Amino acid sequence: MEDHLLKGMAGDETLLVVGLIDTATVEKARSVHDTYPTVSAALGRVISGAVLLSSVMKEGQKVVLQVAGDGPIREVVAESDWLCRVRAYVKRPHVHLPLRDGKLDVGKAIGTGFLNVIKDLGLKEPYRGTVELQSGEIAEDLAYYLNVSEQIPAAVSLGVYVDSDNSVKASGGFMIQTFPDAGEETITRLENRLKSVRPVSAMIRDGLGPKEMMEEAIGAPVRIIDKKNVIYSCPCSKDRVLDAIAALGRKEIEELINKEEDVEVICRFCRKDYVLPPDELMYLLKTNSRA
Ligand SMILES: [Zn+2]
Repeated sequence: MEDHLLKGMAGDETLLVVGLIDTATVEKARSVHDTYPTVSAALGRVISGAVLLSSVMKEGQKVVLQVAGDGPIREVVAESDWLCRVRAYVKRPHVHLPLRDGKLDVGKAIGTGFLNVIKDLGLKEPYRGTVELQSGEIAEDLAYYLNVSEQIPAAVSLGVYVDSDNSVKASGGFMIQTFPDAGEETITRLENRLKSVRPVSAMIRDGLGPKEMMEEAIGAPVRIIDKKNVIYSCPCSKDRVLDAIAALGRKEIEELINKEEDVEVICRFCRKDYVLPPDELMYLLKTNSRA
């Protein structure tokens, strides 16, 4: 199944539901960053979280979801735009922790810390929201963020299944947001149902698509209103790398040139390697007004 998300309405139009399958995208991220299983799960959940947040965005907008904790992974970042083109980064890809109750221990790998959301909405200043991590398991933290920071009553479930060969065999999730006119009864019924619903990774491994997943989660039909494909994509380029070097300033660039060595810049999101010989830096000094 091609990676995609579906957006739908349910419960007499009082629930907005988004269902996501991004197995290939997360497997791509795993291979780019060479992550160990616990990290693959953390990275996958943060990617899915960012994609779910971007699913309600308008043209030109994008969102960065950053999870920073005192656990061995330290930091996971995913950035997704309004077309669900997502890229991600993890500080320590080679963390290994024993299973807890037969599951990858993402909470321990992340530890305590903060979940940060930065939204580029096309305004002068980006929107920023921060909450303390509740469990480090990501889904619960993201729901807490939506409830507390954005005052959107929401439930989030995320799941990643890593196979014994370390590849990602299932990844996805769903997000349910309730509108103000959803009654207390609807919310209570939903909360109770979500407590007993099976894990997302199990649903995806069973072959469920986003629509079936959402319907199993809420126990009611969902009317689909939008579909988006999801893809791992990094917009980095040599020009952007040169811009970043230009921002260092003339003095720093002159120092780099004086070393008479190639400057190597590796994109932290896609690991693409940019090699800039001294004469290119010299050209940059001459042509770029920022340098
Ligand atoms: Zn890149």
